Amino acid sequence: MGLLYTDKKIFHYTDKIDSLPRETGRILPPLHIRIKPTNACNHNCSYCAYRSDDLQLGKDMDVRDSIPREKMMEILDDVIEMGVKAVTFSGGGEPFCYPHLLDCVKKLAASPVKFASLTNGARLTGEVAEVFAHHATWLRVSMDGWDDKSYMEYRRCPDGEFSRIVENMRSFKKMSNHCYLGVSLIVDRKNAAHVYDTISCMKDIGVDSVKISPCVVSNLGSENDAYHGTIFDSVKEQAQEALSTLAGEGFEVFDSYHALDEKFAKEYQWCPYLQVLTVIGADQKVYSCQDKAYNLAEGLIGSIESRRFKDFWFTDKEKFFCVNPSQVCNHHCVSNHKNKMLLEYLEADREHLGFV
Ligand code: SF4
Repeated sequence: MGLLYTDKKIFHYTDKIDSLPRETGRILPPLHIRIKPTNACNHNCSYCAYRSDDLQLGKDMDVRDSIPREKMMEILDDVIEMGVKAVTFSGGGEPFCYPHLLDCVKKLAASPVKFASLTNGARLTGEVAEVFAHHATWLRVSMDGWDDKSYMEYRRCPDGEFSRIVENMRSFKKMSNHCYLGVSLIVDRKNAAHVYDTISCMKDIGVDSVKISPCVVSNLGSENDAYHGTIFDSVKEQAQEALSTLAGEGFEVFDSYHALDEKFAKEYQWCPYLQVLTVIGADQKVYSCQDKAYNLAEGLIGSIESRRFKDFWFTDKEKFFCVNPSQVCNHHCVSNHKNKMLLEYLEADREHLGFV
């Protein structure tokens, strides 16, 4: 298997990269779209970034929003026609709570568009699980608790939910080996001592990978780093142990547990990545990225409630420059490193390109 989390995938789309600057006047389709089909969720996580009053993410989210079925089918028709490469279903809410998810993935499965989903795994059963198992590229289950009791406390969900999800994942892997099943382990101070054991448990279940990520607790990088400072060394040690004793053929460990500060401060004035990976919310609005979803003042690119996504996308390139990261994005941003890489590529002096 090749590299899954490399940020260099974009260099397989040089035409897209070259179209990004304002001066080109060219608009190519986004390569990847995150669709948030619904804001409803069957869990109530204590740390949910979308529901936290302290984080800018999701600050204008209405939990009742859900993309109407007809609109969703129209969006997917456009996505297929535009030649978008991949769709990921994600939250706001839990994608598997969306009543039309099965219709969506059947449509995508019959198209060239690759698809994936983030999920809590509680509804990973029945026909929709079968379609994912046989046709999706990947599925990632978010995890925090390490047993029924801790899981119930994190998620304020019914007792026994952790065991049910473990069973769902076990059954999912038995349906087909086509879909890569990952787990995203969100680390905070409560579960920090259980990182190695949880990874080991996930390996026993049969998942393909575990990604270790820090829980984001503040808009400020320094506050996040202060929060994680007390557990940092212990988590790193466990991650290292998991890499050396658990990772190997058929099971991967991705250590994304790192200082968060570097992902916060921005000095650039436009965001290349918002044309590469864009977000459609359950409110039928298009946002710059998953870190500014449901932020109407600073992350909104426009509404597709009363127009088709393809018409919106291909009209007026100026909308892609409505976000100035140096002014409004000094918070967590998964694309910061990729943006810096693309800007450096685009800013290379043309006269000197030959002197590689
Ligand atoms: S710089 Fe980051 S946070 Fe800002 S719009 Fe771009 S991807 Fe989103």
